[in-house]
Amino acid sequence: MGWMHTAKFLTTAAQLHHLPPIHVPEIAFVGRSNAGKSTCINTLTQQKQLAFASKRPGRTQHINLFSLGKHGVTDAVLADLPGYGYAKVSRSDKVRWQQVMVNYLVSRPGLTGIVLLCDPRLGLTELDEALLEVLRPRVEEGLKFLIVLTKADKLTRSEQAKILSITRLNAAGGEVMMFSALKKQGVDEVAQLLWQWAHPVQPAAPAAAPDGTAAPDAPEDSQQN
Ligand code: GDP
Repeated sequence: MGWMHTAKFLTTAAQLHHLPPIHVPEIAFVGRSNAGKSTCINTLTQQKQLAFASKRPGRTQHINLFSLGKHGVTDAVLADLPGYGYAKVSRSDKVRWQQVMVNYLVSRPGLTGIVLLCDPRLGLTELDEALLEVLRPRVEEGLKFLIVLTKADKLTRSEQAKILSITRLNAAGGEVMMFSALKKQGVDEVAQLLWQWAHPVQPAAPAAAPDGTAAPDAPEDSQQN
């Protein structure tokens, strides 16, 4: 799907208040360190190095924003949040980072959806569960939410089916999809869902008014590809 391939690096910030205000839907990618988040973003955008910018020394605790949009017109932004739970990070850095993330998730204006990356061989970890608790009320208020189970190529079909149904029970009302960067499994499905999040369909205008007069024309649909 062409839309995600338009991703371009926009900006990076170590602190929430340094992020620019964004006036288009923003979709955040979060997950435990090593969950496969960078590989997933790079696969969706078909850009080998895009999300690995977040892994450069000094950048691992930054929020990186990428713009999306055809013909140079930004119509959505992806936010790549630093991976959490990395064992070698000091406790004080972990606490500071968790605070930045929670603040981002509860207070970022324009935040439209969250993609939580999870390695299905580990399942939802304690930190993932803590994040789900923070997200639950926001999802109930309408924030979109997707859990992407990465590295699906490492599981058999029946293992995939089992972990999918278990994760669906714990997804706080969000969706769950299987993904493999290696086998390109789930790439189109995830891209399609993110497109829908960023381009919600307006309710259709009634076909005709009660007195029989024609309703005004609906605005022309935007082209997806
Ligand atoms: P991040 O820390 O969440 O950004 O994780 P990375 O994207 O760096 O991936 C962590 C490790 O998992 C790397 O060794 C990747 O090569 C591996 N990985 C990521 N996605 C896949 C996948 O779909 N299949 C397999 N087999 N390995 C993957």
